[in-house]
Amino acid sequence: MLNQVVDIKFQNGITLVIKREDLLHPLISGNKFRKLKYNIEEAKLQNYKLLVSFGGAFSNHILALAAAGNEYDFKTVGVIRGDELERTVHDNPTLLQAKNLGMEFEFVSREEYRNKTNAQFLKKLQDKFGKFYLVPEGGTNQLAVKGCEEILTEEDFQFDYICTAVGTGGTISGIINSSDENQRILGFSALKGDFLSDDIRKFAQKENWSLVQDYNFGGYGKVTEELIFFLNEFYQKTAIPLDPIYTGKMLYGIIDLIEKGYFPKNAKILAIHTGGLQGIRGINLVQQKKNRQTLVYDF
Ligand SMILES: *Cc1c(COP(=O)(O)O)cnc(C)c1O
Repeated sequence: MLNQVVDIKFQNGITLVIKREDLLHPLISGNKFRKLKYNIEEAKLQNYKLLVSFGGAFSNHILALAAAGNEYDFKTVGVIRGDELERTVHDNPTLLQAKNLGMEFEFVSREEYRNKTNAQFLKKLQDKFGKFYLVPEGGTNQLAVKGCEEILTEEDFQFDYICTAVGTGGTISGIINSSDENQRILGFSALKGDFLSDDIRKFAQKENWSLVQDYNFGGYGKVTEELIFFLNEFYQKTAIPLDPIYTGKMLYGIIDLIEKGYFPKNAKILAIHTGGLQGIRGINLVQQKKNRQTLVYDF
């Protein structure tokens, strides 16, 4: 994918380049394209007709799955967290678009959602929809990691640091596996919690990585005025749109760390734009309802 130099003059001769994985596909965005690729292949090989997965109200993964099903000729079912959302699909840009791509929904309470992978719940789903290929929440499994190993290419070995946002850890695991031992991989956690390192260790084959936990802005999906202000300003300076859940928090973190002198002189940093821009419309609607600042761009 395209590597775009960020046109901002940083201290200490540091350069920042963004890999625009968000431009891979209009709907199967960024890392979700990478994560689905080999799963779709496997489902086809095994002759499945139906893909099932899980997600929240504005899930990038759910929309990507709906679009992939539409493109590669699978039926899709999205198990959605929050049964109250059933009544408001028409107000939710993500779910509405997924529905228009042919996805069926199974809305479940937060409590039921917690038990979504137990045998009893899966059996209930199968009785209702038929036999299916199960894609895990967030799309992370061994085949997803294999797809994410294709994010870095040979020209990327010139970078000292590679930064990516972390949700379930599948994307960073693929990046670690295809990186050089001498590169340092930094994962910017989009959520609170220490369990992520263990999840990454399940898939990652090297030790050249660490997690940065200081830039989740209060937890997964939390958006502050300061973050929105930063994203609008970054867009005005660079014309690069970021999402407020993953890539925006990462970029805020990278620039903050540059300013605090974390990176050595002349460091070359590559940040992966993992996509997620489809979620902005929904988040802007929530912000508007709360009378808060919105992003000046959406998709
Ligand atoms: C899902 C997602 C992530 C997190 O990827 P993981 O493989 O779950 O760690 C990062 N960025 C964006 C834009 C995403 O949609």
